[in-house]
Amino acid sequence: MRVTGDQALVKKLNKSIVLDTIRRQGPLSRTDVSERTGLNKATVSNLTFELLEQSLVEETGPGESSGGRKPLMLLFNGAAGSSVGIELGVTSVKAALTDLRGRILLESGAALEGTDPEAVFGKIREAVRPLLDAVPESPHGLVGLGIGVPGMADDSGVVLYAPNLGWEGVDLKTRLEAEFGAPVVVDNEANAGAAGEREYGAGRHVRHLVYVSAGMGLGSGMIIDGQLYKGAWGYAGETGHMSIESDGRLCSCGSRGCWELYASERAYAYASEESAGGSGALPAQTTPELVEYARSGHAGALALYDEIGRRLGIGVTNLVNGFNPEKIVVGGPLTEAKEWIEPAMLRTIAERALPYHRRELAVSFSELGSRSAVIGAAHLAVSQFLGRVRVSL
Ligand SMILES: [Zn+2]
Repeated sequence: MRVTGDQALVKKLNKSIVLDTIRRQGPLSRTDVSERTGLNKATVSNLTFELLEQSLVEETGPGESSGGRKPLMLLFNGAAGSSVGIELGVTSVKAALTDLRGRILLESGAALEGTDPEAVFGKIREAVRPLLDAVPESPHGLVGLGIGVPGMADDSGVVLYAPNLGWEGVDLKTRLEAEFGAPVVVDNEANAGAAGEREYGAGRHVRHLVYVSAGMGLGSGMIIDGQLYKGAWGYAGETGHMSIESDGRLCSCGSRGCWELYASERAYAYASEESAGGSGALPAQTTPELVEYARSGHAGALALYDEIGRRLGIGVTNLVNGFNPEKIVVGGPLTEAKEWIEPAMLRTIAERALPYHRRELAVSFSELGSRSAVIGAAHLAVSQFLGRVRVSL
């Protein structure tokens, strides 16, 4: 961004910095904010006054003082509004009503019966309506809705391509804004998950994060220097179609040996055919069932998860060598099998990633569990709302 000396812009930037500092590090006194931002006390006082008037910041009881009058402490007011996060899957819709701090107030969901856009809109409405009825009284009310989709979306909220839903060019944002009468943010499900983990989960305080979402497919949300990286046209993160076997299994994308065919739930179908670890056909095809088999020591399920862990580790190694992240977070439905996937995944990364890349690398599973994307989607709407009072940095 080109920063000019325009006074209004400078003020907006400063206000953004003050709000972000209070939101992430509060409670803080005005003096603390001044010290942490480098802004002078008069500027901090003026901007804080505006934020208090907008109810985005509140004052709480006196803090510590080194002598003299005790200062009032400033806190971000998470109850100043609410947001709705939606995760659109291939078989279901999940939704949650949250406050501005990502705290869940109410959850709901609906099973999809078909994937044509009209049927899906109906199910989204069914999942979201009870949440809208439950929006609590607050200064800003419902600030917006965010939705994570299993495919690529552009900046104007059009789902360009969602192969597992059979969607191409579906204008989800316009449709949902007309339906709910509030601003809507549309993003890829892995980007929503990355935002959720970065804001409230395993990625807090991490500036270079790769979030890998593993379920019926694989995708990644990449946060580079604190910003979600979306690529030139918004299609970045389709890492599930990175080739890990040059002449491997044929993928629906037209390529061969794509990562997701080996390291997501899509590997189940192949495991029966190719008999994982030489232990014969799989007894089931869903993660909850296979996890039960693994727990009871079923050799086929254990061999399958060991192999999926190894394959996850190979793809993660490619991302680590290519992007040099501080942290990799693995989330999505497949993480229910974490206990059996993790050892092989970590072993593979330890064996294969370049030594300097590996040295300070942290690898973990999502802290928000299956809620990363829904909480992250709600946060995308909050972030857009705050963007109207601040500029995002
Ligand atoms: Zn592919």
